[in-house]
Amino acid sequence: MAVPKKRTGASAQGHRRSNWKATKPATTTCSKCGAIVLAHTVCTECGYYKGKPASIKHEDYNAEAVETKPAKKTTKKEEVVVEKAEETKEEAKAEEVSEEKDAE
Ligand SMILES: [Zn+2]
Repeated sequence: MAVPKKRTGASAQGHRRSNWKATKPATTTCSKCGAIVLAHTVCTECGYYKGKPASIKHEDYNAEAVETKPAKKTTKKEEVVVEKAEETKEEAKAEEVSEEKDAE
């Protein structure tokens, strides 16, 4: 294991830690409903992405129409895993949004 040659002083420690900052997440406004949305993500309010319904949240969402060009053949097991991953992403987004609302 690598061992530091000298003790890090309080000043150097402070300088290093001063460069660790929280950054604002990149957000845009939804073209459909105007809500503030994380960039490159489906709108959590109306389920639109790039002017098309992309989430089951929207009543016009047609899964077959969207999945016309599968990237690769997936087995049933993989599909289940992908669906679960998407669900957790949606939940995480919802939590983020609710946290932002709480902060305001
Ligand atoms: Zn929207």
